[in-house]
Amino acid sequence: MLVDTHCHLTDSKFDDDRELVIKRAKDAGVSQIIFIGDNVKSSGRAAVLAEEFGMAATAGVHPHEASKWSDEARAQVAALLDQEAVVAVGEVGLDYHYDHSPRNVQRSVFEEQLELAEEFDLPVVIHSRDADSDVASMVGASNATLVLHSFSSGDEVFQAGMDRGAYVSFSGMITFKSWSDLNSVRSVPEDRILMETDSPYLAPVPFRGKRNEPAYVVEVARRMAEIRGISFEMMSEITTRNAARCFGSRVSTRV
Ligand SMILES: [Zn+2]
Repeated sequence: MLVDTHCHLTDSKFDDDRELVIKRAKDAGVSQIIFIGDNVKSSGRAAVLAEEFGMAATAGVHPHEASKWSDEARAQVAALLDQEAVVAVGEVGLDYHYDHSPRNVQRSVFEEQLELAEEFDLPVVIHSRDADSDVASMVGASNATLVLHSFSSGDEVFQAGMDRGAYVSFSGMITFKSWSDLNSVRSVPEDRILMETDSPYLAPVPFRGKRNEPAYVVEVARRMAEIRGISFEMMSEITTRNAARCFGSRVSTRV
């Protein structure tokens, strides 16, 4: 059994065959998928789809959309966090690569959502790109349960995460020939490592360049097991147990 802890199943790229995609995932042994919200609208949609398919969802506003944050958006995200299917705040964080929202706005919106995670006692799924120092200092100051998603940051974020007992989730990027950070995949403690697809993005080898989907988390598991020098079965068991501990009973009880 595998858990895809991060999938943008609300993306319009899945509008034509969402049910089939989920069926293929189940057939591949993926027992649970976390549908990620990245703005108020997609978070609402992720919650509805999660109910419909017996999966889980997150609610939050991505740094790309931080300039759309408002008191109303905060209230809407908070209302979603009260729903049973919603198991985490996310995806939130800082992205200084694209800078779609001003950096100071990104920081304050990230801060407010870190606070929401503490307030609702939910984990927070964090996106970090080209913003290592600020992400490291902000997560270092938070008491929320942290998930560093599709980890590809440098030592500073890694160390801040380790100091805070963060979960670290790896995506299909670890299957790319260009992936050189074997050390981070090896050094995350056994009770803190997670896996994800980040579908529809970042399809793992041998599907690179195609639309990604949750069934392909099998390829992430395979490569992760290889890097850590353990069996595929053991890797699956470890990450599935971690996902249940991190995200709660909704993720552990669905088969
Ligand atoms: Zn994502």
